[in-house]
Amino acid sequence: MPARKTYLIFDSNIGKNKPENIINATATCPFCHREELTDILASDGSILLIKNKYPVLINAFQTVLIETDDCNSDLSLYSKDHLYKVIGFGVKKWQEMIRSGDFSSVLFYKNYGPYSGGTIRHPHMQIVGLKDIDYTDNITIESLQGFIIHEKDGVELNLAQEPKNGFFEFNVRLGSLEYVNQMADYIQIVIHYLLNHFHKNCKSYNLFFYQINDEISVKIMPRFVTSPLLIGYSIPQISNRATEVVTEIQHLYFS
Ligand SMILES: [Zn+2]
Repeated sequence: MPARKTYLIFDSNIGKNKPENIINATATCPFCHREELTDILASDGSILLIKNKYPVLINAFQTVLIETDDCNSDLSLYSKDHLYKVIGFGVKKWQEMIRSGDFSSVLFYKNYGPYSGGTIRHPHMQIVGLKDIDYTDNITIESLQGFIIHEKDGVELNLAQEPKNGFFEFNVRLGSLEYVNQMADYIQIVIHYLLNHFHKNCKSYNLFFYQINDEISVKIMPRFVTSPLLIGYSIPQISNRATEVVTEIQHLYFS
């Protein structure tokens, strides 16, 4: 018999009061009104780590990493200097929460765009400590491996051959924390590619950071409407355009 599923409990009463300004673009942005932000945990210039005001997850410690004071910017547009600061700060704070020993596992992720599950446009990521769920049980090493697009300083950028959910999943695998800026460069390149060259309807993506057996990886997923074959039948699909996409990124960014 398969192991019983572990569910994270969502507080629907908090959920219904959460602000939303991706679809409803006229709603005011809570992250632009810095003077009104409370529970600031850490900062570095315009980068802030705050407690999430709408902690919808039960048995979790939810924080929000506000990446910049520019509401309309995005990781794909940052200067190298700011990009390195944001990713460096995020990885450091995520690692601190892991090392605290207070959690079964710590999530570090980003939602961007209407199909990503995000609700606020302002560039931000989330770091969430889970008291009793270990996500690493759900991630296979195979889903983090794939066709190599580029490699530098022990950091690898690949396109998954056995993606977790199907279609296009890019992975960046970091050999040593010393080269976290190279990881940031690869993240920015893939996001830029997805939003500008990949598919004219691609306006959403997610980043998911993992630490498994002491290795840090990040998965970058373009997001569209979820395939019914996946949610109804658990059949993941892969595209026959995979090698073409690998070659295209190599040509656009690494030649
Ligand atoms: Zn804003």
